[in-house]
Amino acid sequence: GAGKKAVHEVPRPGDKSSLTGQPYSKRFFEILEKRAKLPCWALREEAVRMVAESQSSVLIGETGSGKTTQVPQFLLEAGYASGGKAIAVTQPRRVAAMSVASRVAQEMDVELGQEVGYLIRFEDVTSDKTVLKYMTDGMLLRECMSDPMMSNYSVVVLDEAHERTLSTDILFGLLKEVLVKRSDLRCLVMSATLEAEKFQEYWDSAPLLRVPGRMFSVETFFSLKPQKDYVETAVETCSLIHVNEGPGDILLFLCGEEEIETACAQLEHEFGERGDLMVLPLYSSLPMQQQRRVFPPAPEGKRKVIVATNIAETSLTIDGIVYVVDPGFFKQSVYNPRTHVESLLVSPISKASAMQRAGRAGRTRPGKCFRLYTKDAFETELPESTHPEILRSNLSSVVITLKKLGVEDLVHFDFMEPPSPESMMRALEMLHFLGAVDDECELTEIGTHMAEFPVDPHLSRSLIAAGCRGCIEETLAIIAMLSVPPPFQRPRWNPKAADKAHRVFASGLGDHLSLLGTFCRFGSAESQKDFCQEHYLSERSMKQAENIARQLRGICQKRGLTRKAAAPDGGSLTLAVRKSLVEGFFMQTAYIESGGKHYITVRDQQAVNIHPASFLQHKPEWVLYNETVVTDRCYMRNVTAVAPEMLIEAAPRWFHPDTCKFAEQARKSLERALPRVKK
Ligand code: ADP
Ligand code: MG
Repeated sequence: GAGKKAVHEVPRPGDKSSLTGQPYSKRFFEILEKRAKLPCWALREEAVRMVAESQSSVLIGETGSGKTTQVPQFLLEAGYASGGKAIAVTQPRRVAAMSVASRVAQEMDVELGQEVGYLIRFEDVTSDKTVLKYMTDGMLLRECMSDPMMSNYSVVVLDEAHERTLSTDILFGLLKEVLVKRSDLRCLVMSATLEAEKFQEYWDSAPLLRVPGRMFSVETFFSLKPQKDYVETAVETCSLIHVNEGPGDILLFLCGEEEIETACAQLEHEFGERGDLMVLPLYSSLPMQQQRRVFPPAPEGKRKVIVATNIAETSLTIDGIVYVVDPGFFKQSVYNPRTHVESLLVSPISKASAMQRAGRAGRTRPGKCFRLYTKDAFETELPESTHPEILRSNLSSVVITLKKLGVEDLVHFDFMEPPSPESMMRALEMLHFLGAVDDECELTEIGTHMAEFPVDPHLSRSLIAAGCRGCIEETLAIIAMLSVPPPFQRPRWNPKAADKAHRVFASGLGDHLSLLGTFCRFGSAESQKDFCQEHYLSERSMKQAENIARQLRGICQKRGLTRKAAAPDGGSLTLAVRKSLVEGFFMQTAYIESGGKHYITVRDQQAVNIHPASFLQHKPEWVLYNETVVTDRCYMRNVTAVAPEMLIEAAPRWFHPDTCKFAEQARKSLERALPRVKK
């Protein structure tokens, strides 16, 4: 049902909203005036016509032109969300989905979560009434598992396609198949960069609409020599701009919460007393209330400095930015299929990113961009564009998802850029080790269960193991705690007190059980707020963990995985939990090398250390870890002591002393444990 209403009919004062039946508010018209000035607004008829005429189409426009907030509303007004179907708009980032949905709800004069809502992992702010749904691409993919025809939607808008996230790339392939089967479905790909032709080609010469941008000139400055500490240099640069340059807000790009908070604290320290600089952080784990603070203009005579992650590059547009400080880095998850190590690495941005970042300075008037790297580095060291995520990911989640979606032939799936057969094979191999696929690479019963959980296969495997050991509740609490930003706070002004307060949670067996202890004590605290304050815990992380645990519990119940009445196997609950973890993580274990200085990972014989923040205070012979992080050295984070017999029991082929390729000392340890293993 497209074209029910002409799109150029603009509401007038006194008109009633066709969605709510209420007269529009004053603020509605104030925002409407701004909306009407956005570049996309002028093209709304073209955009709607393009979508009506072709099942798939592409829309390209400068960041801030109104793609994300406006185009879905045009489609809504054109009658697409009728007949019980909604419009889905995907975003690669959680913050963007939340923030944009909240903005659009305002623009449409409705309450967030009603007609306009958002859906991100572990947070569903939608209702039966929702006709415009902003969601992460990962969540749409997850929905496809139970609804492969995407039958809830009339239009799927794949936004921020230039980001080339793993989920968006998979959705590309899936949508292509669904479009053939559903002639009423529409797909609109929206993107900020100039890779238009690539998308167009993939979508079989889909029509393309270019929204002309209006950009002012941006003067770019490079560093004359390479910088050692880019956070420090960045803070200095912001200070200099604030002191020496004319009015206009500053946008500084850094790599994550820690860097951002450090920089913010320094800027506050320097200018707090003058009171003419508003320092505003912006990163994904920041509460919504605080995220919103970046948008309103600074009061007269003040300047805003927004210290943000990559989120501010194209996903969110903040008006009023005149100065951009670009250290040239971002954090990306990089997976090495050869060593199976996935790490969040601070990496150089691409040239395309650098251009986007600079562009943020020229939206409202001519601006300046300060790059904290040399011109030479820009030209010779930065890659042209960011490598698509699918080419640098651990594909095991992808493979399990595709399998669950019924994609038989993984190798011939229509990827825009197919991952290498090698990484596909590695992923299948890993799933095979976990028992998720059988020898024919078909999903097993375990694998089918695993696919239901929106967590990493190692974690879902542990959860399923816990189902057989009577420790589901404990294990899902641990998984929930591992899925939120670290709850243990360590303020710079009082790290010792925080460490002491945290020590009450410490389990001698390591971090997983310490996390469990923290979760339980939080759950039974009389005042959770006081409890968190006393113990230097992030209340937000803890609440979020409770929420996640609740959702995982729901999935467990739906799948018939419940706590068994029988006592946990082996008597002790902590033993049962550790055994369950080992079933999911036996590949992520390490043994201590003979000197006792560091550990050697069993998967790739890499030297690693226990992260200094770990609760594990002694050095057991064998440990299991949740992840590795590379900073100055390679660290294992979230580490738990395990016994060799647990390893042999969980993966006899991996840990058999006669066949394993571990160092002599590790092999001997397994040999000693062998008789203790229950047959
Ligand atoms: P695009 O998707 O093309 O990058 P958006 O639709 O996100 O553009 O944004 C269009 C405009 O809407 C922005 O330039 C900004 O002026 C305004 N805008 C978007 N989000 C907000 C917000 N949360 N608060 C205030 N203004 C916003
Ligand atoms: Mg956008």
